[in-house]
Amino acid sequence: MGKQEQFPRNPRIVVIGAGMAGILTVIKLEEAGYDDIIVYEKAATLGGTWRENTYPGIACDVPAHLYTYSFEPNPDWSHVFAPGDEIQAYFEHVAKKYNVLPRVRFNAEITDCVFNDGRWQLTLADGSRDVADFVIAATGVLHHPNYPDIEGLDSFERACFHTARWDHSVPLDDQRVGVIGTGSTAIQVTSALVERVASYSLFQRTAQWIMPIENPAYSEQERERFRREPELIAHMRKEFNHMAIDTLANAVIDADSPAMQKIEQTCRENLENSVQDAELREKLRPHYRAACKRIIFSEDFYRAIQHPNAELVTAGIERIEPAGVRTRDGRLHELDVLVLATGFKADRFIRPARVIGRGGADLDAVWADRPIAYLSLSIPEFPNFFMLNGPNGPVGNFSLIQIAEFQVSYILQLLEKIRSGQCREISASASATAEFDRERVAAAKKSIWATGCKSWYLDKFGVPASWPWTYARFAEEMEAPRLEAFELVS
Ligand code: NAP
Repeated sequence: MGKQEQFPRNPRIVVIGAGMAGILTVIKLEEAGYDDIIVYEKAATLGGTWRENTYPGIACDVPAHLYTYSFEPNPDWSHVFAPGDEIQAYFEHVAKKYNVLPRVRFNAEITDCVFNDGRWQLTLADGSRDVADFVIAATGVLHHPNYPDIEGLDSFERACFHTARWDHSVPLDDQRVGVIGTGSTAIQVTSALVERVASYSLFQRTAQWIMPIENPAYSEQERERFRREPELIAHMRKEFNHMAIDTLANAVIDADSPAMQKIEQTCRENLENSVQDAELREKLRPHYRAACKRIIFSEDFYRAIQHPNAELVTAGIERIEPAGVRTRDGRLHELDVLVLATGFKADRFIRPARVIGRGGADLDAVWADRPIAYLSLSIPEFPNFFMLNGPNGPVGNFSLIQIAEFQVSYILQLLEKIRSGQCREISASASATAEFDRERVAAAKKSIWATGCKSWYLDKFGVPASWPWTYARFAEEMEAPRLEAFELVS
């Protein structure tokens, strides 16, 4: 088929990943009248991060009614902050209700996407192939576990696993459990496990600021009211959204803002008021500004770490030995279970898949310094290829579901240019992308993430990789594509 004949016609769309963003994409594409859609999902089930993270205590620290698709409210959330298994069940429910499952091919990992003669040639791990007019990568952000480079890790003789690969066959009750890391994950695990185990050792390399929250359960009467009066949910979403934007999203982008100072004061007071023992309090006191690392929300971490079963180990890890963790003070912490709450490689996105764009542009080479994309969703020379929750988006600023909904609606507007025959190929222009990135890097310097701590937000040059502007600016940018920022090939 010659290029001129290709459009307008019914395009074939490949979505990569059946997590929150992939499910959303299918629903919105169908709503827009696309019907040749397939989702490739490398795992055996859907759910993305909520399928993979099943560690004890897992919950979402975005209020549940906000961490919900706008078009599918859920009156049945049990708590203000929902536990992980409820969230996974919610995505399964939505996928079923909107008939997404027949679109998904499970156990199907895309390894290669090559743009050739106007279309994407895709190869899967089992060697099978497909061809797509558009590729939408909904591959998640915090997805590739970061295994720590600690001497002797493989020598540990008992159970050892990463939090995103929790081995539920391993008994925990009355065991000696050690956890490496003090990020959001480790803090949730701590609260959930301390009372169940014989001893609990939390290996802290860097202390964390903790923002206190309350997580009340919704009563059956409340849930019944949500069912009868869905406008109550809409009202709550609005309130939560305002709160999240005013108190956090718009604070973190300006390290000198009064809202940022308020966060710091709250975290400081939480530490002072919640930890009795002065020595433990000092060990738990971070020496960087609150929210420089992703802020942690917890209602009971300080209580948990003061439990008689718990020990906060700050001596630093020398090496792992067959029986446990040897710290730099020479002590061996003997363990039955060693948990790696050591986070994720946050700069991978669609990789390790090989992505080759127009004229042989290789994504790995294009992203050799740092992952860059125009508005986090389009890359120059990678036409008809879009990302959800791609690089430099507002990950961690506000609800990822909201972000994905904005992005899908934006991408649909770009697809429409092609479906309507205005062009055959569309991707961000090199100049708009360079300008966007220059501005982003400059703005990021003002953010709290750049105030002198190490975190997964920072790229290898120490530049925060998150959206450094307000929620309002994101919403405004996402309203409609500015076509002058795109290269349209007809
Ligand atoms: P993380 O925030 O990256 O924390 C990793 C932890 O492991 C840090 O304390 C780090 O110490 C430690 N670590 C890494 N390598 C180490 C080594 N070689 N030796 C000793 N310690 C080491 O990872 P995470 O806790 O999994 O959280 C990642 C993100 O996921 C969060 O920031 C959040 O955005 C998201 N999350 C959200 C929720 C939620 O409620 N919504 C829950 C869990 C996770 P250093 O600080 O010293 O580097």
